[in-house]
Amino acid sequence: MTLPGQLYKLQQIDLELKGRQQELNEIENQLNDNKALVAAESKLASQKEQLAGVKKEQKNSEWELDDLQERVSKLGGKLYSGTTKNPKELVNLESEVKSLKSKISKKEDELLELMSQVEGMEAEVKASTGEFERVKREWQQGQENLGRRKTEVEAAIVKLSLARHKLAQQIDSAALELYEQIGLTRKPAVAKVEQGRCQGCYITLPISQWQKAKAGDLIQCNSCGRILYVE
Ligand SMILES: [Zn+2]
Repeated sequence: MTLPGQLYKLQQIDLELKGRQQELNEIENQLNDNKALVAAESKLASQKEQLAGVKKEQKNSEWELDDLQERVSKLGGKLYSGTTKNPKELVNLESEVKSLKSKISKKEDELLELMSQVEGMEAEVKASTGEFERVKREWQQGQENLGRRKTEVEAAIVKLSLARHKLAQQIDSAALELYEQIGLTRKPAVAKVEQGRCQGCYITLPISQWQKAKAGDLIQCNSCGRILYVE
């Protein structure tokens, strides 16, 4: 293989290595990304917290209702037992019972409303639990796939790096240095020559330059400075 041919091959390895490295970076970014999982988890947690709050409210409301019912029952007993004879006291008792019954009715409405809220929220928590489980399964599956892909890409990188090392050892060190140096400012550093034109800058090469490149000499394009390679 000619020297430009070797450099061209090295360049192909470098390009593939770069592509694989980018792929690996993307895989690693995805492996670190658990935003969807965290979002589903926090949504569920906040719904559970809200549900617990309303359930607590319901419990309090039940206790208050029990208390009111107990009081009305006591007063009722007093009212109808006949032990209270004083008409004014009886009127007061009746009015108190009436007021308590009105409170009980309100409390019952409130309790029904809370029970219906709890029911709705329990359904939401159930749906969000299912959604979270689904997201988690998908995420775990995704992580497994990414892990496998990462292993493959890492192996490919090792293989390419070895191939690069082996090839670089066979290339004249000054030529290798030239390749690296051109690569700092112009990519790709090696340009193919097709139909007498440098494929890096599309300038038509002088015949003598083209012939030297064709013979396998290490020639740089007059116009762009790239190393010329004739296949
Ligand atoms: Zn050129």
